[in-house]
Amino acid sequence: MGDVHVIRIMCPNLVCQRVLSVPDSARGKLVRCGGCGVNIKIPVLKSTKPAETSEQATPPPPQSQEN
Ligand SMILES: [Zn+2]
Repeated sequence: MGDVHVIRIMCPNLVCQRVLSVPDSARGKLVRCGGCGVNIKIPVLKSTKPAETSEQATPPPPQSQEN
């Protein structure tokens, strides 16, 4: 349980500055501040870890020798 990453973002509204906790899945989306109702865009974080690159799992083709 609690495996969901949560982003904490502060409301840009200077008279609010409420810290919102939004799920990681909310990146790139707008969330509404529960304090002042302003829409805040959750910045998309560039992956800290390298993207999972699928290594070349394809085996080399069989070399058939034809005469
Ligand atoms: Zn706010």
